[in-house]
Parts: sequence; structure tokens; C-alpha cells
Amino acid sequence: MTAWDAMAAKRAGVPVFAPGHVWLAGAGPGDPGLLTLDALAGLTQADIVVHDALVDERILALADPQARLEFAGKRGGKPSATQADISQRLVELARAGHRVLRLKGGDPFVFGRGGEEAMTLAAAGVPFRVIPGVTAGLAALASASIPATFRGINRAVIFAAGHGAEEDFDWTALARAGQPIVLYMVMHNLEKIAGALMKAGLGAQTPAAVIASATTPKQRVMVSTLEKLAAASREENFDPPAIVVIGEIVGLRERLLGENLLAGKQST
Ligand code: SAH
Repeated sequence: MTAWDAMAAKRAGVPVFAPGHVWLAGAGPGDPGLLTLDALAGLTQADIVVHDALVDERILALADPQARLEFAGKRGGKPSATQADISQRLVELARAGHRVLRLKGGDPFVFGRGGEEAMTLAAAGVPFRVIPGVTAGLAALASASIPATFRGINRAVIFAAGHGAEEDFDWTALARAGQPIVLYMVMHNLEKIAGALMKAGLGAQTPAAVIASATTPKQRVMVSTLEKLAAASREENFDPPAIVVIGEIVGLRERLLGENLLAGKQST
């Protein structure tokens, strides 16, 4: 018996996956320990798992051995199925009577286009449920020993997507909120966004960190300042997927890591 079986055996009210249904679930940032029990229930009952590139191999390994894994997503630069194709595929698989687990990195509704898939399913009359996941913005911070909120420092957290920053977006409003900003999909636009935030009045010395491949064995963390973060991440070859966090909360990392940091035992 595995640890999962033992735990599942103790849990009352495990949701039952019916044929022809779709579960739209978050897989968390990578570490299988951050899956919800409902996502795990989906993995163990699904006939077909339709997953993104961000879903960790260790999570896919928890699927039923008979289940079919289908990749559907965007892989950096390569041509991939469009969102409409993916949504339609879910409808088609459900109508064929399969139990379809749509597994997305982090939380399906946080910068994940899960909302569009849910709308297509609703419009098609396909029964579905949404299972939230641990979003990378929060998991990466926790994993880097940066509290998302801290009494006396902040009372809000801003989550923003850096991708598409070339489009019209008012970074000034975010800078003026005086609250930490957590950026997703930002690595290609970091210079530009940091510049816009500084222009809007955010101090060049504001603490900032980049956390790449959070909660995976490849996790790397770097702490810098708003002014220097983009150049430093380039120099140190920080690749996506990565979360960037800007604000005074970053400074708490040192205090939380304490002696481990001094001894160089941090996860960088
Ligand atoms: N739905 C996802 C986000 C999808 S957008 C969620 O809620 O987490 C993709 C972006 O998520 C990446 O560009 C990166 O900014 C972030 N991301 C996802 N997994 C990550 C990880 N393990 N470490 C750091 N960032 C991650």
C-alpha cells in the first residue's frame, strides 16, 4: 500500500469521477506534495489526462497506469494547439464517454486560461468541476522563504502577468499601490516592466527576487533590487518558468533563513 492509498482510505466523501465528465484541476507548481487531495482523486480515476508542459513528470507518474496522457499546451516557441482546439478536444473526449482530467500548472484560473475551457464546457453542456491548485506565485514565495504578507509591511499582494506588457497596461497604478507585486511570465519583459515601475515612482533599491522552477529539484532563487534584477537574472541565466517578486517582503527572507543563509545552505 502506498502512502496515497492509506490516506485515501481514511478520507470520506472522495469525489467519484463519472464517465463523460471533465475535471479541470490545478497541479500546483511542481512538487507533487502540493497537489490537492481532489486533484489526486482525479489522477487516480481519470481515463485520459490532458496536461500542460508545466505539469511536473512526478505528478503525471501518479496517474492510473492505464490512463492515457495527452499533451496539450504551449511549449516555448514551438507551434502548439490553439486554446480553442484544446477546449474542443476536452468536449470531444468527454462526449466519447471518457473521464477527462484537464491538468494545468498551478491554479487553472490564475493566468491559465482555465476560465476559457470552463466556458466552452459549460456552453457544450459537458458536466465539469474545477479543482483549484496552489498557484506558482504563492508557492514560489513560500519555497523561497518570502512571506506573501507580513503584518506591518503589506495588506495586499498584487499578481500580474508580465507577458503582453508590450500591450497597453498601466504599471503606474500597480507601482502606486505600495504593495508587493508578484509577476508571472515576466522573464522576457523584465527590463521593460522594472523600468516602467521605477518611472512610476517605485524605488530603484526596492528589494526584488526571482524564483525559477520553484518547488522542483531545479529551483533557484536570487535576491537583488528592482534596478538590478533584470541584468542579474540574465547574467545568472535564470530561465522560465520563474516568478518575480518586488517589495519589502523580499527582505524578510534573510531573517527567515537566518543561519542557514549565512552558512550558504539556502536553496539557490
Ligand atoms: N496557472 C499557473 C500559471 C500559468 S502562467 C499558476 O497558477 O501557477 C505560467 C507562469 O507561471 C510561468 O511563466 C511562471 O511565471 C509561473 N510558474 C509556473 N510554474 C512555476 C514554477 N514551478 N516556478 C516558478 N514559476 C512558475
